[in-house]
Amino acid sequence: MNDYINKLIQDDKLRLSVDKSKTFGFKLGDKQVGKDKVVISGPCSVESRDMIVNWSMELKELGVDAIRAGAYKPCTYPIRKEINGWKEGMRKEGLSALIDVKIKSGLPVVSEIMDANQINEFSMEAIDVIQVGTRNFQNYTLLDALGKSDKPVLLKRGTWGTLDEILGACERILEGGNDKLAICLRGVVGAPSYRHIFPSIRWTPDLMMIPALKKFTNIPIIYDPSHSTGYRDFVIPVSKGAMVMGADGLIVECHPNPTKSISDADQAIGIEELKEILEYVNE
Ligand code: PEP
Ligand code: MN
Repeated sequence: MNDYINKLIQDDKLRLSVDKSKTFGFKLGDKQVGKDKVVISGPCSVESRDMIVNWSMELKELGVDAIRAGAYKPCTYPIRKEINGWKEGMRKEGLSALIDVKIKSGLPVVSEIMDANQINEFSMEAIDVIQVGTRNFQNYTLLDALGKSDKPVLLKRGTWGTLDEILGACERILEGGNDKLAICLRGVVGAPSYRHIFPSIRWTPDLMMIPALKKFTNIPIIYDPSHSTGYRDFVIPVSKGAMVMGADGLIVECHPNPTKSISDADQAIGIEELKEILEYVNE
């Protein structure tokens, strides 16, 4: 297979994630992640109950497979001022709004929790797929708790994560018995040489990690073009590139008024751009 990975297998550092006889993934509405291509979309944050419910209905109309929106929002700059009740997300109010999204749209909801203590009856009612954010990629307490739960998990790559660290974090969840797992690749550290021209570009997309991971694992890969590019003009080409590289789907930030997004305003796309992405993925 590969000397480096073989040695990790021999040393019992990688097990389930690299077992090519296994299948992983989960049901997302009428689709099966890992088998069918999926597009998950929504704003970065739950900004208000009305906004997220109304916007989800429009996205459903367009044909997205699930809604994404953060009720808990760890940001790049840990200290942010409060904006209309939003501070590092709307938190419990945000989860309650996501329950409305599910009831009204009938679509599954993907959302982040930051800590094992946030796994409770209420958050589990609101969230269908638990997103582990980049900052918690190696939060072993959280990964252990998710391994013991039977909820689907979307594990985001740490901005620093190497291929074997990605598989290692997956092992930690699989070990607990939960194989409803997908990896979410997002941008990584390494200042791109055009960053001074497009200052909101903080990360490098690293599309090659898609085929590199696929050599060793059957865990589905959802690509995040928004947190890979940081700049809306690049979201469409990088989305298409990720699908060409073999991604099993995309998670894309899309907002009714992109420049006015409470968080990640520079990378949010509008409905027309999302339409182009959906047409490309579903063609
Ligand atoms: C997000 O998906 O909005 C997010 C905060 O992502 P990340 O954890 O990759 O920064
Ligand atoms: Mn975001």
